[in-house]
Amino acid sequence: MSKHTTQRPAILGMLGGGQLGRYFVTAAHELGYQVWVLDPDAHSIAGQIAERHLHAAYDDRAALDEMARECSVITTEFENVPAETLDYLAKSVPVRPAAAAVSVCQNRLSEKGFLRDNGLPHGPYAAVHSEADIAAAGADLFPGILKVVRFGYDGKGQAVVEDREAAVAAFRNFKGETCILEKKLTLDYEISVVLARDEEGNTRCFPVSENIHRRGILDISIAPARAAQCIRDSAMEYAEHIAAKLGYIGTLGVEFFVSHGQLVVNEMAPRPHNSGHYTLDACVTSQFEQQARAVCGLPLAEPRAHSASVMVNILGDIWFDGDTYREPDWNLLHQYPNLKLHLYGKHEARKGRKMGHFTVIGEDPAKVLEAAMAARAAIGIAD
Ligand code: ADP
Ligand code: MG
Repeated sequence: MSKHTTQRPAILGMLGGGQLGRYFVTAAHELGYQVWVLDPDAHSIAGQIAERHLHAAYDDRAALDEMARECSVITTEFENVPAETLDYLAKSVPVRPAAAAVSVCQNRLSEKGFLRDNGLPHGPYAAVHSEADIAAAGADLFPGILKVVRFGYDGKGQAVVEDREAAVAAFRNFKGETCILEKKLTLDYEISVVLARDEEGNTRCFPVSENIHRRGILDISIAPARAAQCIRDSAMEYAEHIAAKLGYIGTLGVEFFVSHGQLVVNEMAPRPHNSGHYTLDACVTSQFEQQARAVCGLPLAEPRAHSASVMVNILGDIWFDGDTYREPDWNLLHQYPNLKLHLYGKHEARKGRKMGHFTVIGEDPAKVLEAAMAARAAIGIAD
C-alpha cells in the first residue's frame, strides 16, 4: 500500500464528539485541517468547535454518505462506533484505525482472545453466555469480576463477585447479556501506554503513566510512572506489539495491571486515552496531535515529556454541595502557578461524569505530586 498523505486544506471526519474528539478538533485545526464531527448528542462538545456537527446516529446512511464524500480521512474517539459503520465508510474513504482493529477492542472476549492468540500476558478468565458457564468456571476465578463484554466504561457494567452464587446474581442483573468472568487480581499498581502508529508501522510511545482509579473511574495519572525502568520498557514493548498485530493507525491506549510484580494487559482503547491527557501540557506533542498526524500520514512527532506531571480528573460530583448545584470555585485551582486547568464545556454536570481535568507540571516529581494532591483536596474532590 502506498503512503497516503492528507494535503491541506482538507476535512477530517471524527466519529464521536466528547472531550477526546474536542481535543482532536483543536489539534487538527492547529495543523491546518477542518473537522466534521458525527455525534448523535445535540450538545456534542467537539461538534461545537468543529466546522460541522453532523447531529445523527452512527448508522445514519445519509450522514455517513456525506462524510465519506467530503472528508479525506475518518477517525474515531469512541470505541463503540458500530464496526459496520467503519466498514461502510471504508468503501469510499480511508478509515483509521480500521474496523478490524476497533472491533477487537469493542468486545472484552475478542480482546482477551487476541491477547491469548498473540502470546500477550492477560489474567485468567472465562466466557459467560449462560448460568451453566458460571457453574463450569474454574474455582480459581473467584473472587472475580463479572463484566458485560460490550459497552462497559468507567467501571460500568461490572460487578465484583465473591463466589459462584454472587456471579449468577450479577449475571441475572445484567439481563443475561454476554459477560466475561475475570479473576480479581491483586494489583500492585496500574500503568498505561499511549502510543501512535502510522501507516508505515512507525511507532512512538509516550512516557508510561501510572494510574489510580477511584470507584472504577480514573482519578489520577502520574507521568512518568514510578515503576521500574524494566517494567516500563516491557509495557511499551507489549503495547507496540499489540499495535503492530492490530495493523493499527492512530493513537492507541493500552492499560496494564502490575500484579505480584508481573505485567498483565488489562484492556486496549482504540483512541486517545484519559491517562494520556498529561501529554497536552507535559510533552512536546500531545496524543491528539499525534492522532491527527498518524491518520493524515504526516510524520509522527516527538513524544518526549519536558516536565514531570500529575493529572487529576474533575468529575461532576464537585458541582453538588449537598442538594445544591453550583459551579465549583475555580480560583482555588488558579492559586497553583504550575496547574493547567482544562474544562470541557459540557452543558450539565452529573455525578461520575468527566467534566474536565487539571495537570500540574514541574521539574521535581515529588513536588508535582504534592501540589496536585493539595489542589485536588482544595477543589473538593473526595478520597
Ligand atoms: P473500564 O472499561 O471501565 O475501564 P476496566 O476493565 O479497565 O474497565 O476496569 C476498571 C478498573 O477496575 C481497572 O482499572 C481496575 O482498577 C479494576 N479492575 C478491572 N478488572 C480487574 C481485575 N480483573 N482484577 C483487579 N482489578 C480489576
Ligand atoms: Mg479501563
